[in-house]
Amino acid sequence: MTGETYRSEFGRILELIDNNDRFLMIGHIDPDGDCLGSMFAMTLFVRARGKDVVCYAPGDVPERLLGLPGADSLTDRDMIASFAPQVVIALDSPTHGRTENVMDIVGDVPVVNMDHHPSNEMYGEVNIVDESAAAAALLVFRFLESVDPESITPDIASCLYLGILMDTGSFRFQNTDEDALSAAGRLIGYGARAYELTHEFVYMKKFRTLKLLVPVLDSLELSCEGRIATMQIKREMLESSGAEFKDSEGFIDYGAAIDDVELVALFREVGPDKTKVSLRSRNHHDVSLLAGRYGGGGHAKAAGLTINDSIDNVTKTILRDLEGLVSGR
Ligand code: 5GP
Ligand code: MN
Repeated sequence: MTGETYRSEFGRILELIDNNDRFLMIGHIDPDGDCLGSMFAMTLFVRARGKDVVCYAPGDVPERLLGLPGADSLTDRDMIASFAPQVVIALDSPTHGRTENVMDIVGDVPVVNMDHHPSNEMYGEVNIVDESAAAAALLVFRFLESVDPESITPDIASCLYLGILMDTGSFRFQNTDEDALSAAGRLIGYGARAYELTHEFVYMKKFRTLKLLVPVLDSLELSCEGRIATMQIKREMLESSGAEFKDSEGFIDYGAAIDDVELVALFREVGPDKTKVSLRSRNHHDVSLLAGRYGGGGHAKAAGLTINDSIDNVTKTILRDLEGLVSGR
């Protein structure tokens, strides 16, 4: 997709921005760098046009991301109704459910839906949905470059660069294509602080994150002749390390980095009877289909789901499913 493909949609978004005063940016539960980077970039752009903007995403916001430009726009769910947004812009959010139905609060206002998940339900009045895009930030970038390239400040460029950096696993995942790299290059041209972002978000780790990594790596198990890796994060590991679940971003990549591993599952004990599962595929298997069977979703190579059962039961259940996938059952 190029800027050309969406020329009329981009014009419509700009019209909505220019003809209204109050905007709500929303993102998916437990927002990541792509989700928040995209939300904050849009926030800075819309604010620069003299408008009021608040941002909301349910769940946990990783502490480091609170340092991004635009993060001061984050608000609580309770504040949204009185703010009375006239337009909602949803970023990186495939369904209402993934935003915990926040759109129900605002009533019948136009929704702009900018996303790159294949499972997107096209719920917007304007839908910029391109599953071939490595990051939602790429879609925001195409929009801004198409309607007003001069609006792209170093802060906006940094937010967008971070989105691409995070969703491509620092330009290592299969989605690292010409488009992603060329956008990243151009964003540096617009002033993105590429080195600082990589240093802060990829290289630097909190002490408690590394303390948590030790038992999580210890939980690694291989099955199906090394083709499947599983890892667990139990409550007791959080307690002993002083870390939280949000400190474990990227841990699943250790499983995926093992020679011969094709499928990886990381299980997080959210509660005694609630387990969140992250899935990664390094072969042709589409793990979003497996996640979908349990009400989850995501991308072919990276998906997730939550099951209301104990971590050990869920580990057994999902492992059986993964074994079925690799053995062709
Ligand atoms: P992660 O494993 O990093 O949390 O998520 C990987 C991908 O799967 C992300 O694109 C994320 O949006 C998606 N995902 C994770 N958990 C869920 C879920 O419970 N439901 C849906 N629909 N998607 C999920
Ligand atoms: Mn994304």
